[in-house]
Amino acid sequence: MRRVSIYDTMSRETRVFAPIVPPRVGLYVCGLTPYAPAHVGHGRVFVVFDVVARALRRWGYRVFYVQNVTNLDDKLIARAAEEDEDPLALADRHFATFLRSMERLGVRAVNYYPFATDYVPEILAQVRTLVDHEFAYVAADGSVYFEIAKFPRYGRLSGQRPSALQPGARVELDPRKRAPEDFVIWKAATPGEPSWESPWGPGRPGWHVEDTAMTGRLLGGRYDLHGGGADLIFPHHEAEIALSESATGEAPMVNYWMHVAFVILQGEKMSKSIGNVFDLDAAIEAAGPGALRLFYLNAHYRSPLDFVPEKTLVEAREAYARLSLPARRIDELLARDGPDRPGDRAPEELANAAELLVEELDDLIANDFNTREAIARLFEWTRRLSDAGGFDHLSGEALETLAQPYRWANEVLGLFERSEGTRAGAWETAIPLLIRIRARARERGDFAEADRIRDELAAAGIRLEDDAGATRWSFSDRK
Ligand SMILES: [Zn+2]
Repeated sequence: MRRVSIYDTMSRETRVFAPIVPPRVGLYVCGLTPYAPAHVGHGRVFVVFDVVARALRRWGYRVFYVQNVTNLDDKLIARAAEEDEDPLALADRHFATFLRSMERLGVRAVNYYPFATDYVPEILAQVRTLVDHEFAYVAADGSVYFEIAKFPRYGRLSGQRPSALQPGARVELDPRKRAPEDFVIWKAATPGEPSWESPWGPGRPGWHVEDTAMTGRLLGGRYDLHGGGADLIFPHHEAEIALSESATGEAPMVNYWMHVAFVILQGEKMSKSIGNVFDLDAAIEAAGPGALRLFYLNAHYRSPLDFVPEKTLVEAREAYARLSLPARRIDELLARDGPDRPGDRAPEELANAAELLVEELDDLIANDFNTREAIARLFEWTRRLSDAGGFDHLSGEALETLAQPYRWANEVLGLFERSEGTRAGAWETAIPLLIRIRARARERGDFAEADRIRDELAAAGIRLEDDAGATRWSFSDRK
């Protein structure tokens, strides 16, 4: 396995990655609260961790990637009330849209998307443990609070103390709490909201405890890698550490913390609560999924990324078209003539350079996921290939040799996935439909119509083959 180093938010240094039980890697990323469509800022976080998991898997690590879905919280309940919809149904609806966006973006490294409401037994068990060991207390209304004073390490990840503990801070005191910085882990039920029975009366989970109940069940009290957006460091991830380490007695909960910097729009972090958001699906539509991934990955994940609506996506599309031109041409030739196509060998210098480049690209990504430098090297490769002239005289083997850096970029960065958004999906639906229409024409003896469909598809580059009563289709050489 390749030696990987990761900048760890907790230790504030780049450390060699050593999984607890190699080659296994437990990876947990804070996911979406699906109360509204996802925006471009969300897309960045999930593309970055898609690349992290893809790269680790390429190098032989066996990654179990869990990304939670907060399908019940205050924002969801408020939005559902506005729209007169059941909050859980609203979350399901937005999550289904989110999954389709992820599929279009080529984000498919996640193994499991657990829903908060499916882990209520684990959440209740953790709350009960915390109450039993007096890390948490029950308020008069049946809510349960974690008592920060019981966890002296609170604040180590962020270097921040709760605002209430900062000198001069003015914090409204909630009469249910012993200290203003204590946070709720079980909320007493409000009439009309979803609730579950508990030893403290009906209620629902608080935010932070859902993560630690899930990771406790799915990844254990200690695991390898935890990720999320930089906005989650405080208080969310501090709270997770306090809950898990208090409940399990095991520390550290996580060995490496990775945080992705913000996407900036109009000078501020893109955020639904601020309102300066650009819809993720609209961005995929405008730029294409490959170009959007290029935009995300053409910066180091720890650097903020500026998004200018009328400029960013146009530039990304143009850059992507330039970067992918040789890859597209090579794929066209291989698709037309097959891998055994005759022709010249690749110039030795270029063939060697292709292999060296793949090695270099792996090294760049293994060094704290330096996608920006990797993309710079891919642009250089594209320029080098254009300078070397066309490909039409090269053999299939030579083309594959020169395509290696692009194959790498597809595997690790997900940059050259074949399915470009909805269009590939449309083919998959439209062609079988035409095949069925053609079969019906033949059944009623209208062979002229059947042949016309076949010929027009052939003219459009789609070949039909009748074989033992079934018809198969493939892309053929476009004339
Ligand atoms: Zn979380």
